[in-house]
Amino acid sequence: MPDQRTVAPRLDIGGIANPRSVAVFGASDNKEKFGGRVMHYLTRHGFAGKVLPINPNRAEVLGIKAFKAIADAPKPVDVAILAVPAAALLQSVQECAAAGVGCCVIMTTGFAEAGTDEGREAQRTLVETARNAGMRIVGPNCMGLISPLANMALTSSLVLEIDRIQTGHVGLVSQSGALMVSIFNRAHDAGIGFSLCVSLGNQSDLEICDFIDYLVEDKNTKAVCVYVEGFKDGARFLRSAAACRAAGKPLVIVKTGRTPAGERAAQSHTASLAGSYAALQAACRRHGAILTDDPDAMVRLADLLVRWPTMSGDGIGVLSPSGGGAGIGVDRVVESGMRLAQLSQATKDRLLEVLIPPQADNPIDLGGRRSGDVAGTAGKVMTPMAEDPDVAAVLVVLTTVPFYEQTTKELAMAALAAGKPVLFSVTPGSAADGPRRGLRAVNCPYFDSLDQALRVLRLMVEYRALNQADRTVPPRPADLPSAPAPAQSGRLTEPEAKRLLAAYGIPVTREAVATDADAAAAAANRIGFPVVLKTVARDLVHKSDVGAVKLNLGDEAAVRAAFAAASDAVRKAMPGAAIDGCVVQEMVRGGEAELIAGIRRDPLYGPVIMVGAGGILVELLTDIELALAPVSPEQALAMLQRLRLWKVMAGIRGGAALDTRAAADAISRLSFLAVDLGDRLVDLEVNPLMIRKAGDGVVAADARGQLA
Ligand code: ADP
Ligand code: MG
Repeated sequence: MPDQRTVAPRLDIGGIANPRSVAVFGASDNKEKFGGRVMHYLTRHGFAGKVLPINPNRAEVLGIKAFKAIADAPKPVDVAILAVPAAALLQSVQECAAAGVGCCVIMTTGFAEAGTDEGREAQRTLVETARNAGMRIVGPNCMGLISPLANMALTSSLVLEIDRIQTGHVGLVSQSGALMVSIFNRAHDAGIGFSLCVSLGNQSDLEICDFIDYLVEDKNTKAVCVYVEGFKDGARFLRSAAACRAAGKPLVIVKTGRTPAGERAAQSHTASLAGSYAALQAACRRHGAILTDDPDAMVRLADLLVRWPTMSGDGIGVLSPSGGGAGIGVDRVVESGMRLAQLSQATKDRLLEVLIPPQADNPIDLGGRRSGDVAGTAGKVMTPMAEDPDVAAVLVVLTTVPFYEQTTKELAMAALAAGKPVLFSVTPGSAADGPRRGLRAVNCPYFDSLDQALRVLRLMVEYRALNQADRTVPPRPADLPSAPAPAQSGRLTEPEAKRLLAAYGIPVTREAVATDADAAAAAANRIGFPVVLKTVARDLVHKSDVGAVKLNLGDEAAVRAAFAAASDAVRKAMPGAAIDGCVVQEMVRGGEAELIAGIRRDPLYGPVIMVGAGGILVELLTDIELALAPVSPEQALAMLQRLRLWKVMAGIRGGAALDTRAAADAISRLSFLAVDLGDRLVDLEVNPLMIRKAGDGVVAADARGQLA
């Protein structure tokens, strides 16, 4: 919905996060009721602003003076929280607007997310009412917000039964309300506090990016977590992500709708246009944001990045009190795609002072001590490992050990003193409650599952790699045409699509269009045998499936026969289809591998470029990489290197390396075509882009496309 605000907002987001006063509709003493819980949590956690209970039947609630209607409450009322039934909501919102309320936080459901015209219409009216008054809306269909620095819990969720709201440096913006409070609760148990938690529900007025932008500016926030079902405005998200990056604040995102089923769930849940996940991945890669599939991992990662904003490398040190723990640890680190650190000789020499030879290396088994108690030795082992130049982070697989709590604390303190990320994975159950207490006491992060520790560690490594990669938007090559001028719209035939490619300097097959067999034979003579002949029909998408592609034709007679056979095959397969003769083209020689390279316009994130293993393997392998367009040749090469096909292109088993530079150059040019086509681009695809041996170039053997 375009922003049709005509009146300046009464309150900015800072004012919503730190309101002077909060009105609670349906305020009650009864915790069984929504308005009862909100009142209890507001008072329990010591909100310093004014609490204004609104209840027509009560003189006071929890000893606080109540008001019959919002109009009676003393001004200013910064925020009102409402969970009144859907049928009564509009009237309450109108009363708030009239009473000068700055922002309504609306829990009520039954609006756009219901998927009905009535729901959408009711939400539209709600937003219009608010905007005409300069009032903001959070929700509807949300769970409110938690503003730890203001000691304010503006939610009815029972996770606020805790004694104290911890403050911290992670900002959490969640589209889902129930997920927000669940995440909050888990983080609370892990000792992680927030600068702000907010749930947006249907994002009818204030949306996710409004809060990301606020957190970018907020000096208490050092990392931003986002749970999203759908962004309202893809281009705006890209700007917000770039702003996070510019402010040096890691942005970690969980997005649902990765699978078709998830996409449906996201739509009905908060009425979102889920959008293509692959395009979001590309957008996040470009802007240095991290995507993960697990909300708990998201917050744990953000917490670690607040503690340790940079990693010195990607080498992982593994340490365990037992050989079993060390063994499991290294296997899992390697299987997760991470690199084991190689300890220097100096480190090994230091370790040899306390450990027997086989243990004085990565992974370390504390059991291999020369002598003495483990307590008192643990630090002497941890310190050299954590200080080793190739160790960027330490994973401790904590099995049981004598003097359990003391040894654990000693390990943690030695690791923390080295200043590098350290993650404890606590293996035992209740037997390790003492060590867990010890870890909490020294403020050292730990995980109760090795899977989760590895997942988060891997994300840290990924975040580092992402921020080291070249993510700049490349300059436009000078030799590109200023504007592509394809007159036609709709489906492009192969020769039409190839003309566009050729104009952008992408090598295509030498070819000519012919409308009869004689002309085809003449064209073949000019091009030189052997040739390829393909029937041209605009509506024919997969030519070879119907026998419209005739390869390796050696002489005129073969060309004539192919013309007739291919045309007949198309007529048979697609009766009534318009046939525009055929195209005769050189038979490409020396193509060692086939790539697919495509561009399309994503409705949310704009032009994207895709490369992958092409030919008949496309669907089988789904070995593809996506990036926001444009990409430089170097960035295109990096995309190719992430393909499984890269091993083939780089030359396996002594085979020759292929011309990946030429491929990268073609991909870069194609990406600029995507940008230049702008809104006219639906999609355009080269398949195959034949790639020859290094130095011999690439050539587009087939292309198709669609313009708006
Ligand atoms: P389709 O519409 O079925 O994708 P293509 O034009 O891609 O038809 O032809 C199918 C296959 O034939 C290609 O994947 C490629 O392997 C081969 N091919 C097509 N054109 C040529 C050519 N000019 N030179 C060599 N091989 C070609
Ligand atoms: Mg093809």
